[in-house]
Amino acid sequence: MQNKVDILGVPIDNVTMDEALEKIGAFASSDAVHMVFTPNPEIVMLARENARLFSILKKASLVVPDGIGVVIASRMQKGTPLKERVAGYDLVQNTMKEAAAKGYKYYFFGSKPGIADEAAKRMRETYPGIQITGTRDGYFKEEDIPDIIEDINRSEANIVLVALGAPKQEIWIDSYKHLLKHARVMIGVGGSLDGMAGVVKRAPVAFQKVGLEWFYRLIKQPTRITRMAVLPKFLVQTLFYNKP
Ligand code: UDP
Repeated sequence: MQNKVDILGVPIDNVTMDEALEKIGAFASSDAVHMVFTPNPEIVMLARENARLFSILKKASLVVPDGIGVVIASRMQKGTPLKERVAGYDLVQNTMKEAAAKGYKYYFFGSKPGIADEAAKRMRETYPGIQITGTRDGYFKEEDIPDIIEDINRSEANIVLVALGAPKQEIWIDSYKHLLKHARVMIGVGGSLDGMAGVVKRAPVAFQKVGLEWFYRLIKQPTRITRMAVLPKFLVQTLFYNKP
């Protein structure tokens, strides 16, 4: 796998934040739709049990290591390690810094009612000139999907952020991307809209720098403990994983 690092079978692009940003810029001005995902150890472990998620991650245009655990795993195994952590939240923020200049148009899809709107309001304040041309919450029924697709098309957004949690967001993106007329980049962003709306606070930079953002999130949301319990299992499986 060229420029990819195999983490328990999931090919992760070995890119820096700047390289990931550049790729997104190229996708946005291309004439095809590109899927971008940001797996952490939980998602990699989920992919080992969920064949659909696994196959979607394998065919995505860009897969970046969101969690420090994925980077650590790459250092524990043979071969080239991942260059750095590329947090999905930061990646999206960095696209927004250049959004006005590059003419990106965003659609925020997902999270609880009101969150996508609040996130849009705050991002407009943070990044003057940014175009966020549509929002929609992530609690819908099967029969609402045609309406959601129409709304995304009407927004003419070329970057669609999908915040439905994994594996729902990955499956949604893969299932409906062919029906979106203007979308060029579709990113599965997990809880990022909650972060942008200020509902969930990002860890202080000091925690992020020493790779302890997960620990901060655990203190703030102790219910995540069951989800995080997969981390030791993930690292042990990495130790015993034989790359094909
Ligand atoms: N969510 C949603 N629809 C659903 C289930 C979840 O919109 O049917 C949203 C939820 O409100 C939250 C996000 O998906 O904003 C998932 O966040 P989580 O913390 O699980 O994501 P992570 O960043 O940990 O992957």
